[in-house]
Amino acid sequence: MAANAHKHPDGVVEVSTPIQFLKGAGPDRAHLLAKLGLNTASDLLFQFPRSYQDMSAQAAIAELEDGQTVSIVGMVAKVGFRRLRGWGKSVVNLVLQDGTGELRATWFNLPFMKDKFAVGQRILLSGVVKFKKGIWEMSHPRSMVLNEDEEIPDGEVLPVYPLTEGINQTQMRKIIAFAVESLADQLEEVFPESVLSGKGLLGITDAVQKVHRPTTVSEAESARVRFVYQELLVLQLALALQRWSIQQKAQSPVFESSAEIHSRITRRFPFKLTNDQQQVIQEITEDTAREYPMNRLLQGDVGSGKTVVAEYAMLLAVANGQQAVLMAPTEILAQQHLQTLRRDLKDSRVRIELLTGSVTGSERQEILDAVRSGEIDLLVGTHAVSYDHVVFDNLGLVVIDEQHKFGVKQRASLKKAGVDPHYLVMTATPIPRTVTMTLFGDLDVSTLRQGPAHQQPVHTYHESDDRKSSWWEFFCEKIREGRQGYVVAPRVDAGDDDVANVQQLFESLTNGALSDFRVGLLHGRLSPDEKTDVMQSFANGEYQVLVTTQVIEVGINIPNATVMTIEDGHLFGLSQLHQLRGRVRRGVFPGYVCVFGQPGTEHADEKLTAFVEHLDGFKLAEIDFDLRGPGDLFGVRQHGMPPLRVADLRCDRLLLEQARTDAQAMMDHDPGLNDIHFIKLRKQVLNRYGTVLDMGDVG
Ligand code: ADP
Ligand code: MG
Repeated sequence: MAANAHKHPDGVVEVSTPIQFLKGAGPDRAHLLAKLGLNTASDLLFQFPRSYQDMSAQAAIAELEDGQTVSIVGMVAKVGFRRLRGWGKSVVNLVLQDGTGELRATWFNLPFMKDKFAVGQRILLSGVVKFKKGIWEMSHPRSMVLNEDEEIPDGEVLPVYPLTEGINQTQMRKIIAFAVESLADQLEEVFPESVLSGKGLLGITDAVQKVHRPTTVSEAESARVRFVYQELLVLQLALALQRWSIQQKAQSPVFESSAEIHSRITRRFPFKLTNDQQQVIQEITEDTAREYPMNRLLQGDVGSGKTVVAEYAMLLAVANGQQAVLMAPTEILAQQHLQTLRRDLKDSRVRIELLTGSVTGSERQEILDAVRSGEIDLLVGTHAVSYDHVVFDNLGLVVIDEQHKFGVKQRASLKKAGVDPHYLVMTATPIPRTVTMTLFGDLDVSTLRQGPAHQQPVHTYHESDDRKSSWWEFFCEKIREGRQGYVVAPRVDAGDDDVANVQQLFESLTNGALSDFRVGLLHGRLSPDEKTDVMQSFANGEYQVLVTTQVIEVGINIPNATVMTIEDGHLFGLSQLHQLRGRVRRGVFPGYVCVFGQPGTEHADEKLTAFVEHLDGFKLAEIDFDLRGPGDLFGVRQHGMPPLRVADLRCDRLLLEQARTDAQAMMDHDPGLNDIHFIKLRKQVLNRYGTVLDMGDVG
């Protein structure tokens, strides 16, 4: 269909009108806006400001008061840039003059800011002003370069939009303002009146206008709440609808359980299950007794005993004549699981095999044949087990261990024709509830909180570099006592910065602090065989110390290892650090971790302090989330769900809880969401999530 079809003959604008036909836009700008994902008039309406500039707080430099939050318009008199000592550190200084005085703005570690300004430019800075050593200063102000003739309206609250090259803030404001003026009252309300008044939400037209042109910042915030709630409610409804539709399908194998089966399985374990383990096993038994697939996330701190729970679930499948597959992220872990299973299932008829990338040739073919014919009951491996040519006779359960990529898509890839196997995904990276309720919202969550009783204390220290030699003394003392240790660094090879890398560390330690000991080197660049060899040698004590990267982060279990040095710890995420620490609390001896790191870098101090203070992985995950946001955690990018556009899970937690409760209540009242009042809401749910959540049959 030609784009013209959207253009009303009288030039009337509709929600679906392509941007190029809007006043102030045109084809060139439309092209630029498309880079921001903006294609139609309605996209513009929902392109919300990322912040506001409160012009009611404009001031001249001569009238400033210490500690005031203000906006100042002036001329750039000077821009300076300096690198500071220490990796990645720098400062940009800018001097601003407004005819009444001078002010200095500084930005630390944002070197690109120096290119943003030129002497003679007219700019606006907003932030908190401080009077220091005879000069007014603003640290990390928000800034905006103004056009020659640009008017700065006094007393207004101006929206600040995300920009793309070729379009400045003023142009963006004009384009969006035009769209809002001509379209806000054509928008359809998705909420029935009862919901709007019941929840105290602004109507759609009112809310759109106030988000873009508020009279006060708090008015903008209450308009935003309406959209945040809507977005979260739509998501929660989608998840509830998907769950409902899966339950209608009923095509998963039913695992029957009995006291006899239970004791036959648990007799195999060399220890008594903890209460938490029993609880989770109970949940899994209930889930798998239904005709629709279990989708359960089992999270538990390192060492909390997840493996045995997985083993139970797999044996329950086998007891019901089904096959089970266990997928680990690395060969080493797959090997480790294989050993545990073989040990526990010694002298049983259960047949277990390993399938990884390094199983090849006729051996591989034999395994594939035996999987296909159903001779193999349990298949353990890396993601080689999920390849298309791995065909199961009757796959009843998939367990995915320590894998952060367990999003919607990944699970779909193991879904074999006809039946839906049950899924158990396990992670030692605890996931904040806000995230499990959204990105992984299609999973039920079980948690192992209390580890097996024998878990040892672990002592964590954060030391400055001048304390290194005394830490190494302590480290060596432990090795002499017969313990083993890890040395962890962020990098494999030297780069052009001075970040610690394992190659160099290995050299310097084997010629220095650790010269008396047998030291191994392990990193992700080694071949699978080499890695396995090194791990074996460490496991059987040939190596006393392992110099390594975060490849050991996940699941490695060497009870005799009790000391760990972490170099440049500030470059690891908090959850990663905690995972690493988990490697030295597995045995009968207490563990000791010392982390070194550059203070002063972004979040480094908060992060390392939190690491020392908290032993609870859930607490640390929440802190990590608050510091860094969801972006680089939990393989969030691979989870497959579209990103949230308005809500920010860090500050919108309460709204999320509300939306979830409300969605559940709506579904309880009207399971397929067919009520006439909910038609528009339902349509929005399907538009946004229908494909990704595979809800074709709901629509
Ligand atoms: P993770 O949750 O990190 O995968 P594992 O399943 O590897 O933890 O368990 C950690 C250690 O605790 C293992 O050595 C395991 O054998 C042991 N373990 C697990 N459950 C129990 C239990 N109920 N009692 C005693 N030891 C246990
Ligand atoms: Mg594990």
